[in-house]
Amino acid sequence: MALTFDLKATDGAARLGEVGTARGVVRTPAFMPVGTAGTVKGMLPGQVRGTGADIVLGNTYHLMLRPGAERVARLGGLHRFSGWEGPILTDSGGFQVMSLAGLRKITEEGVRFASHVDGTRHFLSPERSMEIQALLGSDIAMCFDECPALPAGRDRIAASMEMSMRWAARSREAFGHPGDRALFGIQQGGLEEDLRRESAERLREIGFEGYAVGGLAVGEGQEAMFGVLDHAPAQLPANRPRYLMGVGKPDDVVGAVKRGIDMMDCVLPTRSGRTGQGWTARGMVNLRNARHRDDPRPLEEGCPCPACAGGYSRAFLHHVVRSKEMIGGMLLTWHNLTYYGRLMAAMRGAIGAGRFADWERGFHARRAEGDLEPV
Ligand SMILES: [Zn+2]
Repeated sequence: MALTFDLKATDGAARLGEVGTARGVVRTPAFMPVGTAGTVKGMLPGQVRGTGADIVLGNTYHLMLRPGAERVARLGGLHRFSGWEGPILTDSGGFQVMSLAGLRKITEEGVRFASHVDGTRHFLSPERSMEIQALLGSDIAMCFDECPALPAGRDRIAASMEMSMRWAARSREAFGHPGDRALFGIQQGGLEEDLRRESAERLREIGFEGYAVGGLAVGEGQEAMFGVLDHAPAQLPANRPRYLMGVGKPDDVVGAVKRGIDMMDCVLPTRSGRTGQGWTARGMVNLRNARHRDDPRPLEEGCPCPACAGGYSRAFLHHVVRSKEMIGGMLLTWHNLTYYGRLMAAMRGAIGAGRFADWERGFHARRAEGDLEPV
């Protein structure tokens, strides 16, 4: 089996488990830092690992345009090229073609588009996406699918879901069963429970090593997303990992785990770290704010990251963010990934101990306190 899933405990719908890949174990629920172009921006692989991350994500769309999948393959694959030895998940490129590329033309065959980097013309299909992900050598590959932006009409959602399911069958066919690499199917269907169920049934018939809930975090809002997650995970096989793509803020992550999601990814901790935002148990702190200018306290008391445990003050972080020093984005990225890593570890502990509901109450209570009073 290219991928194993060991479900160790459940607490309500929340699940504690381990995903086994050829390159190591992923403890779930897991948050996957995003290494868009083969690097988690501002962080060395060992530092990313040190935040508690077992797996990182790479983006097919970015890597196919630059430096090119064939080049990465010639240089030994994405693990060797990037220096990350652990498991890597690659997306299919579909979502970012829709959100970043210009001059898209979508047909049953695939998507023709212009690169957002240099305008060159490219083509992505289920077959080409599987080929690229094989060249990159990711441990977990994703089916090529189409994800319509929400809100969209039911007819549009249904037609898109049906094409994505035909593309899922083509993805499986092209991917094959290589033995050391796994393929995840992606459920679509927007906010429609019956379309989600139909999509899940089509995917189960094809058969995948894991299943993603796709088409969320595309503008529908948290309440609508949780509404889908109240039924979507249970429509997918219980004995396989469930991955919610592109989520999210800490309270989104907690709500998704509560509803039975095992894996997530989001650019939020890294991107917000580069724009001066630090996530703490008491919410998001904007280090650009002048209130931190004379504050000698760490960003978050008790956090083991170099920004907090390294003796840096909020005043220093404010200073390096405002003066656009590289170390500002690096330290805040490090802190934010550490925060997410500890959040996932805390949830795994709570699920294992059968006290997730208590833990969740504490999580929300601390956030409701808000940030420290200014000095
Ligand atoms: Zn910290």
